Amino acid sequence: MLPVDGIPTPEDIMAKMPPPERLARGPVVMVECFQQIPCDPCTHACPRQAILPMKDINEIPRVDYEKCNGCGQCISVCPGLALFVVDLTYSEEEALVKLPYEFLPLPAEGQVVAGLNRAGEEVCPARVVKVVATEKMDKTAVIWLAVPKNMAMEVRHLKVKPRGTTVICRCEDVTLEEIEHLIKVEGVRTLEEIKRLKRCGMGPCQGRTCLPLIAREIYRLCGTEPDSLAWPTYRPPVIPLKLGVLAGGGSDDAQA
Ligand code: SF4
Ligand code: SF4
Repeated sequence: MLPVDGIPTPEDIMAKMPPPERLARGPVVMVECFQQIPCDPCTHACPRQAILPMKDINEIPRVDYEKCNGCGQCISVCPGLALFVVDLTYSEEEALVKLPYEFLPLPAEGQVVAGLNRAGEEVCPARVVKVVATEKMDKTAVIWLAVPKNMAMEVRHLKVKPRGTTVICRCEDVTLEEIEHLIKVEGVRTLEEIKRLKRCGMGPCQGRTCLPLIAREIYRLCGTEPDSLAWPTYRPPVIPLKLGVLAGGGSDDAQA
């Protein structure tokens, strides 16, 4: 409850939702600004005047959702970190949420982070699609996050998680966390896909260590029996060789 812990109730959020038909058409701003305070940078920042001019600086901002194209330019000027953009049309499975972020280090594009709700609770993994920040870091950064579609109205912050420490593929340095993300979020289901995306099985061990572990993860997360999985093709050489060995026919020991 806002006056007590600063967390808006579902009713508070509903009152700030763009109309469903506008949400269905693409990215649009969501102004989660609930209290009357003397503040108005958002009304000056929007190049399309989608956040309407205020007669009194204490007004709560009002939005013309038809003018907003979801660019996100307003997000970094809001001192209350109250502006977000939500795009429910991002993909079949995911929505895009653009949100303000004022911590360092910034996450990297492609990194998987924890999506947090308005209470700061971790609710889902989220993938960083874009980081918008000035070189001098003199403005609030805006992070574009791909989240599961049903989390679009939940995720309003992120936590950069330390990189997983359980390495599944030692040759290509791929962690359990990365494999879990591919299966749970990207919908990857086969060893061949994982090999192509992460190079697991293409290093010197040729998958002897990692592929059975990955097959076990596919079974754990999707229920697919390892015996029913197609195993990727192994291509010789199975250990690194110098070109001279191949050209001259010498022994690997002699060339080492
Ligand atoms: S997202 Fe872009 S168009 Fe929409 S209100 Fe913000 S600045 Fe204006
Ligand atoms: S800049 Fe942010 S805090 Fe200030 S009125 Fe606009 S939305 Fe509210």
